[in-house]
Amino acid sequence: MTSPPARASALDLIGNTPIVLLEGASEAAGCEIWGKCEFANPGASVKDRAALWIVRDAEKRGELRPGGTVVEGTAGNTGIGIALVANALGYKCVIVMPDNQSQEKMATLRALGAELVTVPPTKFADPAHFVHTSRRIAEETENAIWANQFDNVANRRAHIESTAPEIWEQLEGRVDGFTCAVGTGGTLAGTGMGLREKDENVRIALTDPYGAALFNYYAHGELKAEGSSVAEGIGQGRITANLEGLEVDTQFRVSDEEGLQWVARLLREEGLCLGLSSGINVAGAVMLGRQLVAEGREDPRVATILCDTGFRYLSTLYNAEWLREKGLPVFDWLRSS
Ligand code: PMP
Repeated sequence: MTSPPARASALDLIGNTPIVLLEGASEAAGCEIWGKCEFANPGASVKDRAALWIVRDAEKRGELRPGGTVVEGTAGNTGIGIALVANALGYKCVIVMPDNQSQEKMATLRALGAELVTVPPTKFADPAHFVHTSRRIAEETENAIWANQFDNVANRRAHIESTAPEIWEQLEGRVDGFTCAVGTGGTLAGTGMGLREKDENVRIALTDPYGAALFNYYAHGELKAEGSSVAEGIGQGRITANLEGLEVDTQFRVSDEEGLQWVARLLREEGLCLGLSSGINVAGAVMLGRQLVAEGREDPRVATILCDTGFRYLSTLYNAEWLREKGLPVFDWLRSS
């Protein structure tokens, strides 16, 4: 086994995450299911990559100058990534978040020195929505940029240039399918496009939570949401610039209950403590694996994303009272609490 190389800067710790064979999921699918360990990034989520690429891109284009401020609206993880990158490069940051996201993410952002602005969780059409609020703050702040992760394709470029080639190399050039859920779409589109550059036959699947509109869009051409989900960071109602031009081969929809079952199994059987989007991704990967097996593909390999650490959700997913409040099943080992 080779150790990771010495790095000249903490920013070089972003990316080059390990990939792990998920035994339970592989058994359920009848083929290999691999999880890309994005919780191993310095900010403990997949969004460190997008944060770094967006900030570097703004520097290259001359928009972000020394002493500047990065402003972003986020479910939290992008904000954590931006706060770390901004600290490393000497920028300030203002992070706008809907106030229904986990307390842990808000406490983390404050601890990292970000200026945190919380807004009510409203619909995208509402001017108070976190995305519009962050754009306005950026416009009103001197020497500031709006990271605009949803429609800034530097986000998906992070995955075209880093996540996809890493997965390809780690799986020794044999990847049959890739799937994940969508927040901005940067991870699905970027990793999907990057893998297709290596092999045009890689099957790219959307795994959508309920409450999002993309499953119906890719299945029937209609942006229509049904149901709801408590998953943070995923669930999109429109085609963002990051999703434009992505050809989705197939799509799955996964309930919170199914996602939570995988969160529980990954923790209890494999020792991986993850957030709900990771559980939903693994459920989707199992569906994709089964589909490839049913079609007679020989020993297909499917990759997905383990998006962030479960430590970010101790007050929610790992809290019996919160789960009961949301009408969700309580993990066996939390039942007495
Ligand atoms: N899972 C979590 C926990 C996230 O925070 C995000 C980012 N919003 C995603 C998944 C989805 O990633 P992307 O924005 O690249 O679609």
